[in-house]
Amino acid sequence: MKTIGLIGGMSWESSLEYYRIINETVKERLGGLHSCKSVMVSVDFAEIEKLQHQGDWGQLAEIMTDAARSLEKAGADFIVICTNTMHKLAENIQQQVKKPVLHIADPTAEKIKAAGILKVGLLGTRFTMEQDFYKKRLQDLHRIHVIIPSEEERQKIHEIIYHELLCGVVKESSKNEFRRIIQNLEKSGAEAVILGCTEIFLVVKPEDYRIKIYDTTAIHAEAAVDLALKKL
Ligand code: GLU
Repeated sequence: MKTIGLIGGMSWESSLEYYRIINETVKERLGGLHSCKSVMVSVDFAEIEKLQHQGDWGQLAEIMTDAARSLEKAGADFIVICTNTMHKLAENIQQQVKKPVLHIADPTAEKIKAAGILKVGLLGTRFTMEQDFYKKRLQDLHRIHVIIPSEEERQKIHEIIYHELLCGVVKESSKNEFRRIIQNLEKSGAEAVILGCTEIFLVVKPEDYRIKIYDTTAIHAEAAVDLALKKL
């Protein structure tokens, strides 16, 4: 088994979910007392959030690269960035470390393509929904057409993520907001929806929806186990 290197703390609530899923998946696959070999570097999200909203991606790249280097030194065989938004820096990080970075959009796209889905709605922070780093990867590398919610809806989602979900707060009113927004994406032709933020699972349960929902937290964590257990 390879050792998974996790950059966590963005938020710690979702890192907990990654940790739970990777260990449960290893146990399911190998049985007995097996658990996952992993190391985690967990950051202080208050520092990250401040720099994100100041637009200081240079400083953020340094923090992320330091974390990835620490994981390499600690014996990680590959790197998992436990958040969608910080994948804005995935290429910068990859250039600074030898071990591969498992990009969150790739296993998600593979599942979508395998289901024959061509057009998806993307939910996430404003950074993820509006900037090119995530959508372009889905569109150019995987040929998946991406649509995003309206300006008003994007603002609402961003506020829910930063003021509630990243603080571990789950409100019924926010569950309803997500339901409304997902219905609108469906009306706009989305065949499926990507939960492109690792905390949205707190308020959107795929089993409660008729439309297919792809939760990046679970998909990324399971893909990490696939890679950790892959025979060379
Ligand atoms: N975890 C969230 C995401 O997947 C937001 C936190 C962050 O900005 O990194 O995008």
